[in-house]
Amino acid sequence: MYCEKCKRIVETNICPACGSKKIREPETGDLCFLTEQDYVSSGILEDILKQEGVPFLKKEVLGAGLSFRVGPMLDRSRFYVPFEHMQKALPLLEDLFAVPAEEAEQLTE
Ligand SMILES: [Zn+2]
Repeated sequence: MYCEKCKRIVETNICPACGSKKIREPETGDLCFLTEQDYVSSGILEDILKQEGVPFLKKEVLGAGLSFRVGPMLDRSRFYVPFEHMQKALPLLEDLFAVPAEEAEQLTE
């Protein structure tokens, strides 16, 4: 399922991230929240997505005004990927930034 408000893929009928009840089936072309990364990781991820031909939208969390004051190194970026590309983007992300919690649990069982 898909939360229209924060653009996350969620498992429940109420979004665990923002509490929104505007949950529906994800559709082709829906931008989905992929991850939030710091300045350095954002650069790496951006390169990999480009290499793999995955279209994405990158948004600075603080925005231009604030990041000018605190410096770009402290800003974080959120990545959004069209729903139909999530299946390709997620494994890239996992390869890049360690094993996700669910998989780690399975490994220890
Ligand atoms: Zn939400």
